[in-house]
Amino acid sequence: MEFKDFSLFDPTPEHKALRAMVCEFAQKELEPQALEYDQKEQFNQKLFQRLGNLGLLGLMLEENLGGSKMDATAMIAVHEELSFSDPGFCLTYLAHSVLCVYNIYRNANEEQKKLWLPALCSGDTLGAMAMSEPNCGTDVLAMESTAVRNKDHYILNGRKMWITNGCLNDNKTPCDFVLVYVKIQNQISSFVVEKSFPGFFVGQKIKDKLGMRASNTAELVFDNCIIPKTHLLGREGEALKHMMKNLEVERLALAAMSLGIAKRCFKEMNKYSLQRKSFNKSLRSFGQIQKYLAQSYAEYQSLRSYIYNLARQIKEDGSENYRLDCDAVKLLAGKLAKDIADRAIQVLGGYGYVGEYKVERLWRDSKLLEIGGGTNEALEKNITKDLEKWV
Ligand SMILES: Cc1cc2nc3c(=O)[nH]c(=O)nc-3n(C[C@H](O)[C@H](O)[C@H](O)COP(=O)(O)OP(=O)(O)OC[C@H]3O[C@@H](n4cnc5c(N)ncnc54)[C@H](O)[C@@H]3O)c2cc1C
Repeated sequence: MEFKDFSLFDPTPEHKALRAMVCEFAQKELEPQALEYDQKEQFNQKLFQRLGNLGLLGLMLEENLGGSKMDATAMIAVHEELSFSDPGFCLTYLAHSVLCVYNIYRNANEEQKKLWLPALCSGDTLGAMAMSEPNCGTDVLAMESTAVRNKDHYILNGRKMWITNGCLNDNKTPCDFVLVYVKIQNQISSFVVEKSFPGFFVGQKIKDKLGMRASNTAELVFDNCIIPKTHLLGREGEALKHMMKNLEVERLALAAMSLGIAKRCFKEMNKYSLQRKSFNKSLRSFGQIQKYLAQSYAEYQSLRSYIYNLARQIKEDGSENYRLDCDAVKLLAGKLAKDIADRAIQVLGGYGYVGEYKVERLWRDSKLLEIGGGTNEALEKNITKDLEKWV
């Protein structure tokens, strides 16, 4: 039975239909392959293309660009339900649809949008976003990658690290499009780099990750990479504000991924604690187990309310600033998902410690959500700064 849906505050018929469709996809197609792709350390490209058929890859884009013209609430619901079954696959979805596609949609000119977005929305092409570098992550303004203008093109040099979707499963072919942040005369600019551009290649696939193993992570190299000036997004030097704006929606989506993990782990421990007997009683008759269940349920529902309440307020035109709460909800979600996954392993005992029972994989996947897209410490720093205005 599904939990009572307190927190969606009257979902529209479209939201309900979307959630039902994604749940069906997750149950029939995503769930059965999740452990296999985690173990193989590969992403399921065929299944990713199915997301295009389902209209999920350009969820918040105009229909004439291949999108589905839905809102941030819809975006959260999709991340929650995909992550419920397979957070690694969902990370691939997020990197493509939020970090690359939505970022291009918000910041490209009309010609660029028409050129790139339809194929990205259909799943015919795969996208990524490259901000982090070998020598800087949190301190993003210290990035060392540069571009220099030379008549009708730019020459890009640098290395990008930890890039989700950076490579395909052969570990050497880059994805089709990467939105790359670089400095031009010390100001941040962004470009869309295509896989065929000379001087662009995969440095290495990052192997043996703790979690999110069903998504590919790569180091990308730009060695005198030649980029036509038609591939600059916006104007030179204005991409810092694009980056900050996109981080808001990224953090909300990452929080929704944590929510999906929290829900799944709660469900697994709730079920197991009834079936498993100890001292002739079900586990859930013991007070310590009850504490795990009750606390996890309360935390899940409060997190869900915060996330959906925030998503409902987000205006599609990007005119308002939601940084404080996108940071705060991601901070809370990352911690709760990890705690609830940890309790789920505890309730399942030895069975919780192996892949077949799912919570082990979800626990590993949950850790990334305290690091990627802004570490807990970075979020705490931002939140404290933003709260100064309330002192
Ligand atoms: C699986 C995976 C996928 C990723 N996908 C992408 C992607 O698609 N695109 C992309 O651009 N990046 C991606 N990243 C990178 C991710 O966003 C960075 O790892 C993250 O921002 C942290 O940067 P860092 O790893 O360089 O750590 P650092 O910034 O070096 O931080 C190390 C530690 O020091 C702490 N720290 C740093 N500065 C401060 C400070 N001022 N005060 C207090 N503590 C501080 C941090 O919080 C952290 O605990 C991914 C990472 C992983 C692991």
